[in-house]
Amino acid sequence: MKSKDLDALFLEALKDIYYAERKILRTLPKMARAAQSEQLKQAFQQHREETEGHKERLDQVFEMLGRRPQGKTCPAIDGIIDEGEEVMDTFKGTPALDAGLVATAQAVEHYEMARYGTLCAWAKVLGMQDAANVLSQTLEEEKKTDAMLNKLADSEINKTAIAAE
Ligand code: FE
Ligand code: FE
Repeated sequence: MKSKDLDALFLEALKDIYYAERKILRTLPKMARAAQSEQLKQAFQQHREETEGHKERLDQVFEMLGRRPQGKTCPAIDGIIDEGEEVMDTFKGTPALDAGLVATAQAVEHYEMARYGTLCAWAKVLGMQDAANVLSQTLEEEKKTDAMLNKLADSEINKTAIAAE
C-alpha cells in the first residue's frame, strides 16, 4: 500500500516535469532571441538542445512504467515563465535585460533541479534504478547549466547591467 502511494506521487511528478520541459522547449528560443550577449544567446540555444534530450529521457521513463508520456499543467513553471516574460517586456532595450534573463533562467533551472532531485530519490526507493539513472543524467545537466549561468552573470552580464547606465 505504502509503495503504491509513492508510485502515484512519482507519476504525478513525472507528468509535472514533462509539462515543464515542453514549456521550456518553447520558451528558450524566445529567450535566446531576446538576449543581447552573444554568449548568453548561445547558452540558451545550447540548453534548448539539451532540453530536447530531457524530454526524450522522460519519454523513456514513461516507457519503463509502461505508460504513455503525458503532461499535467504545472502552475509553478507557468508562473516562473510569466514573470520572465514580464521582465523581458519591462526591460526590453535596457542594459539590465540580460541580467533579468539570467535570473529567469536560473529560477527555471532550480525548479528543474528540485523536481529531478525528488524524482531520482523516489525512483531509487521504488526500486527503479534504471529510471533513477536516466533522471540523474538530466539532473546533472540542469546543475551544469545553472553553474554556467552563474559564471556568465558574474563575469560579464551583471557588470554590463550597471556599467551601461
Ligand atoms: Fe530540463
Ligand atoms: Fe534546464
